[in-house]
Amino acid sequence: MRSSSSPVALDLDRVKERARGLRGDEPMPPINEGAVEQLARARRADGRIDLRSLELSVLPYALEGLGKEELRALHIYKHLWKQGVQNLSEIKTISRATLTALESRAAIEHLEPAGRIDSDDGTTKFLWRLHDGHHIESVLIPDEDRPGPNANRYTLCVSTQVGCAMACSFCLTGDMGLKRNLTPAEICNQALQVNAQMPAGRRLTNIVMMGMGEPLHNFDNLIVALRILLAEDGLNFSHRRITVSTVGLVPRLQQLAETLPVNIAVSLNASTEEQRLQVMPITKKYSLQALMDCCRALPIPSCKRITFEYVMMAGFNDTLDDAARVGELMRDVPAKINLIPYNENPDRSIRRPSPEVVAAFQGYLSDRGFNCTVRATRGIDVSAACGQLGKTVERMASRIPLAPAAPAPQEHA
Ligand code: SAH
Repeated sequence: MRSSSSPVALDLDRVKERARGLRGDEPMPPINEGAVEQLARARRADGRIDLRSLELSVLPYALEGLGKEELRALHIYKHLWKQGVQNLSEIKTISRATLTALESRAAIEHLEPAGRIDSDDGTTKFLWRLHDGHHIESVLIPDEDRPGPNANRYTLCVSTQVGCAMACSFCLTGDMGLKRNLTPAEICNQALQVNAQMPAGRRLTNIVMMGMGEPLHNFDNLIVALRILLAEDGLNFSHRRITVSTVGLVPRLQQLAETLPVNIAVSLNASTEEQRLQVMPITKKYSLQALMDCCRALPIPSCKRITFEYVMMAGFNDTLDDAARVGELMRDVPAKINLIPYNENPDRSIRRPSPEVVAAFQGYLSDRGFNCTVRATRGIDVSAACGQLGKTVERMASRIPLAPAAPAPQEHA
């Protein structure tokens, strides 16, 4: 794992005040180390800076020398994320001379749609081609018919890496190994571009970082992406509607909770140290005990809980003894438990337990006062379910012609 600087925390309010002219001609403060690093990470192979990989407080530094940098930055940022412009030339209010100067140093990244597969249960899998030929996937999970507070929920399951280095034995994405980290632009563009394809009047409401990759293994880019997703002038999601799911990279988990108020989900998947070691190699580095100690002490608001995902595998971790041990692990942790019956696939002999076994496990924990739910499997017929991402390119290319998605109509927020 790369060592990371502390995330940038420039004063966004001051940037906005200067943008609005409230601070006269006060110069920009000198650039700090975190912002320098963010700019460096946003530099593309052609030397230009990818503006969609910058948070608003850093964007002015990419415009240095053009004058009124904060004002321009706010203006450009809104066009990037609210209007979804694909080219700087679409921003009509930029003068020709400024546009020429800008285009020589900056560009706007976009994902190329490479396929879209609709599942019978309403889930849609989006396949994207990256500029270097890699592919990633996002899964749209609508919940239109739900009664109550979650009615009209549209959740996008977003990828954070091409492949994954965590090598959990049950997960197909792990078979690819890690190809590379996604940039903040590539993470956020999944949400931006799916939003633009939603039916009229509908918008994404929830983001879960549960697609390909381990989000906390791409920490710096994740933080920038989250800041863009959360920003009022960016994609404007509520922190209550963004969830980061992790195998439990302990120091990063702590750092995330200290940095941003998003929801945290931890993939537990086992009830003992030995059992977890068998399926999640990361347990060698961060033991189950260290992970639970970290969760117990996380600085999360009292209204939030940590979700523990527990993939249930028949004959492996599905007994009532396991349930009892999971209950023990949760002691003093503000927890919700989400059981995920294993999504079977041709590459593993792992089976999902019967519905009765799942219900007994859930009942055991619910009866003892735990908030324990079973995740409904969605998208199984298009390999969009948990742990099935990453093989679409090889599999689908040979079997189903992937209809290229129509270019995204731009939506004005
Ligand atoms: N790396 C992160 C994000 C991936 S989320 C994490 O591990 O949390 C994917 C979730 O799906 C994880 O909880 C993982 O344990 C689970 N999963 C992986 N393969 C699965 C499968 N075949 N069936 C059900 N869940 C699976």
